[in-house]
Amino acid sequence: MASPVAHSLAGAVIYFAFSRKRTFNAKEFGLVILAANLADFDLLAGLLVSDVDAFHRTATHSVPGTVFIALILSACLWIKDETNVPRLYTMTLLALASQLIIDWLSYDDSIPRGIPLLWPWSLEHYMSDTQLFLHVRRDNLLTMPVILHNLKAISGEMLILGPVALIGWWVAEIKCPRKQEYRRAREASKH
Ligand SMILES: [Zn+2]
Repeated sequence: MASPVAHSLAGAVIYFAFSRKRTFNAKEFGLVILAANLADFDLLAGLLVSDVDAFHRTATHSVPGTVFIALILSACLWIKDETNVPRLYTMTLLALASQLIIDWLSYDDSIPRGIPLLWPWSLEHYMSDTQLFLHVRRDNLLTMPVILHNLKAISGEMLILGPVALIGWWVAEIKCPRKQEYRRAREASKH
């Protein structure tokens, strides 16, 4: 499975794709990054029974689970009376879905390999034939071979998703505001 770096970069790509013509909103950005990582919080649930993998890659890594979490999130936003609910809902739904896509595209060395996309109807696990991302190891975390392996995995994630996130940031935060400024200046010079 991929690391939080890959999931966070995917979240950033989604946020910037929906944020053109808007000023940067740290709260929304944080929400989308959280949503992109949310499925892996099932590891924390495992801590309650002293086995981090007890609930990992089950309900939260399925399509029905993702839709359910998105509905709960949107209900929370609606209760909080956010004005941007449809846009925020779309961003969080895509961010949640990005977890499934990235994990599906990641190498998995544990059995069963992949994620149970159709849980609870089917326990079959799915993993892409082409894996873009290396798995992150959690065993013997502080030993040199594992540190080197995880650094290699994270570097690969940054190499693949980093440029996409950077382009998204540049378009949303630099190019579009400049274009708007230029248009406004031109309009003002006409009057
Ligand atoms: Zn995951």
